[in-house]
Amino acid sequence: LRRNPGEAEFHQAVREVFDSLAPVLVKRPEYTDAAVLQRICEPERQIIFRVPWVDDKGQVQINRGFRVEFNSALGPYKGGLRFHPSVYLGIIKFLGFEQIFKNSLTGMPIGGGKGGSDFDPRGKSDAEVMRFCQSFMTELYRHIGEHTDVPAGDIGVGGREIGYLFGQYKRITNRYESGVLTGKGLSWGGSLVRTEATGYGTVIFANEMLKTRNDSFDGKRVVVSGSGNVAIYAAQKAQQLGATVVALSDSSGYILDEQGIDVDLIKQVKEVERGRVSDYADRRGATFVAKGNIWDVSADIALPCATQNELDAASAQKLIESGVKAVAEGANMPCTPDAVSLFQDAGVLFGPGKAANAGGVATSALEMQQNASRDSWSFEHTEARLHTIMANIHKNCATTADEYGQPSNYVAGANIAGFTKVADAILALGVI
Ligand code: NDP
Repeated sequence: LRRNPGEAEFHQAVREVFDSLAPVLVKRPEYTDAAVLQRICEPERQIIFRVPWVDDKGQVQINRGFRVEFNSALGPYKGGLRFHPSVYLGIIKFLGFEQIFKNSLTGMPIGGGKGGSDFDPRGKSDAEVMRFCQSFMTELYRHIGEHTDVPAGDIGVGGREIGYLFGQYKRITNRYESGVLTGKGLSWGGSLVRTEATGYGTVIFANEMLKTRNDSFDGKRVVVSGSGNVAIYAAQKAQQLGATVVALSDSSGYILDEQGIDVDLIKQVKEVERGRVSDYADRRGATFVAKGNIWDVSADIALPCATQNELDAASAQKLIESGVKAVAEGANMPCTPDAVSLFQDAGVLFGPGKAANAGGVATSALEMQQNASRDSWSFEHTEARLHTIMANIHKNCATTADEYGQPSNYVAGANIAGFTKVADAILALGVI
């Protein structure tokens, strides 16, 4: 706390992992002897930089850029870039810390990192977004590389932003280094299924949890928060599995569509027109609840896919009373610690983000594989790989929870399994 003042989200994320680790430290005293816990919560490198750019009125604007290279024991740093006005060091560190364990759980050779800026892409023209991305990359390029650090997208960073970032990297370095960024477009080194991967993976993980109780998505009423990349494809996969997704949201409110979300329409509104969920409601004749709390809507399955700490204890209580059976975190840390405890105490299946939303980064690692071999795989092949990876993550979390005497506790299972793999690598690499 003394070394990282005022970084509430980072403290929350560290506490959440460390709370699970006591039984591991009893079993493996060498971790304590080698100060593994202290080493794992100190980033290897933190870069903070000025991002100057010129808006459409000719005015100079200044934002702050971040890249936190947290841990590279398992491979090059890997993790997204977030562009949102709420971004500060504490958010980037919480996300980078989570990413270490998430990436470990995927079974792929990738370390953990995260970056971003307090730049707000909303309301900016295409040209402004491009100038910002070019300025951001003009500093970032010296820190990243296919064997060093491989950023991707996150909130506010999608295919358009990755394109401008990649273009500037290529221009500055004079290298077509496809493996330096993931989430690229399909015609310039991207992977099929990357766009869908986080949302699809979250639903696959939730479905694996349901299978342990001989249950499934079929016929279920599902609520998905957010309406961005993760939310849209979580909704699509849930409906492919026979569920009805009745609500989505953004920061201005939520929509209720009892017939089931029209995925093609929400994609048109959000991805093509860059509109709001209220625009979807107008076109579809669905209800828009301005400033409403989406967790007031009853659900059999809840998939929080917007942002951190969006689902608190009061919302969890309402969901439990409405009979929720499973909750899987598509977003990073969307449920507050109190909400998680309530779900667990009520016997609700709870999939933590570092396991449930790992499909995105896993498919990014598949994109890196395709780039390294100058190959591109079919949708079916890549989706099958994603499916296997998510089923393995589920199995690993469940088996580890059983091994440590906490059956069905996916929080403990994910934290312990993610941690031990990284901790063993840290030990093997010596004091560095
Ligand atoms: P997008 O930018 O595509 O969408 C974010 C969505 O969440 C938007 O609907 C946005 O609404 C809403 N939102 C964001 N911030 C807030 C806020 N403070 N209050 C209310 N609503 C908010 O981002 P993604 O879908 O990519 O990311 C969503 C979550 O998933 C994040 O936690 C991210 O870290 C996590 N994640 C993403 C992965 C990926 O592959 N994209 C991988 C793993 C995790 P509005 O437009 O009104 O701001």
